Amino acid sequence: MADRFFPNSMPDFMVEATRDSETTVGEDSLMKLLSMPYSALSQHFKRTALDLKETITLETWGITGQKVKDFSLYCGTLGTAFLLFRTYQLTHNKNDLILCLAIVNACNSVTSRDVTFLCGRAGVYALGAVAAKHAGDQNLLNYYLTQFKEIKLPRNLPNELLYGRAGFLWGCVFLNKHIGEGTIPSATIRAVIDEIIKKGRAMERKGGCPLMYEWYGEKYWGAAHGLAGIMHVLMHLELKPDEIEDVKNTLRYMIKYRFPSGNYRASEEDSKRDVLVHWCHGAPGVALTLTKAVEVFGDKEFLEAAVDAAEVVWNRGLLKRVGICHGISGNVYVFLSLYRITGNIQFLYRAKAFSCFLLDRAHKLISKGEMHGGDNPYSLFEGVGGMAYLFLDMTVPSEARFPAYEL
Ligand SMILES: [Zn+2]
Repeated sequence: MADRFFPNSMPDFMVEATRDSETTVGEDSLMKLLSMPYSALSQHFKRTALDLKETITLETWGITGQKVKDFSLYCGTLGTAFLLFRTYQLTHNKNDLILCLAIVNACNSVTSRDVTFLCGRAGVYALGAVAAKHAGDQNLLNYYLTQFKEIKLPRNLPNELLYGRAGFLWGCVFLNKHIGEGTIPSATIRAVIDEIIKKGRAMERKGGCPLMYEWYGEKYWGAAHGLAGIMHVLMHLELKPDEIEDVKNTLRYMIKYRFPSGNYRASEEDSKRDVLVHWCHGAPGVALTLTKAVEVFGDKEFLEAAVDAAEVVWNRGLLKRVGICHGISGNVYVFLSLYRITGNIQFLYRAKAFSCFLLDRAHKLISKGEMHGGDNPYSLFEGVGGMAYLFLDMTVPSEARFPAYEL
């Protein structure tokens, strides 16, 4: 098990210097970063993120002859557009917005039956609409919105986040946040919620979990394919009182049957293998759902469980992978999310510690083969695209959001 992650030998907490001159002197470059005043460290994050963004754009767009093979936001070219949009939001550099729109346009030329934000057309149209709004191009905004509204959900669609109904709904809430409430009418959203709730209640279950879903024959618990992701999206929407109770009780069920370590199983069937500490499977993805539950419902029990999950991430989440989905970059967002809702600087420190580990060592470890750079090494969810996104977020940690998942 230990070979999945690096042992975390970083101090539990370190007070940072108030002036550069007080930064720890010594051999250890990681400790130097950790003791640096945040303003100076933030500059490091920003510089590295912007350099990485250039490399990623070149590798996924420039040298491909601007041809799109995999268009998805998850592992394909749209992930670069999403990174460019985030860069634009922080730097206001119009070139990033123009390039973002050019990439979305190329992604739009690829045909696909997938309908979600992360892996399907909802991502192309929703990001296209929002970027067009920022560019002041009303015609383009209308075009992408019309395309989005014409998406038809197949009857046999699963319910999970990457390919299912929850992933389509996330596109709706993204549009309503960035373009304006009611952009996607509540009747459209309600019809999809009804279907998700109906399917969840109908699934045969043992032990009293009110909602349960299957994806390729397995009842997953995690954010990518299972309960954590579906519950997370539902909590962004207007639910009926009985639906709220079902969501809460589903979370309570997961907390009750979590591993003694505080980690969460990958699926209902996988009750013995306490191994995965990823956003896609395990404590990190569940922790983000629990922090959302605290924001929406305010219940203390969810905050306590989220803090327990974050402890698992601190101890076993320094993964030998770089990405957002199942790597260190994604795990950092657990601490950022808890920092946002509690204001506790211990969580900011932990986010900083994991991020500094990446800043200091990721390139070296990947080039030595001691860390996996992702099957799609420049992608947003598996590769260094996610690390660049994280470094941008670390310059404004209280505003950080897990990409394409937290709003
Ligand atoms: Zn994953």
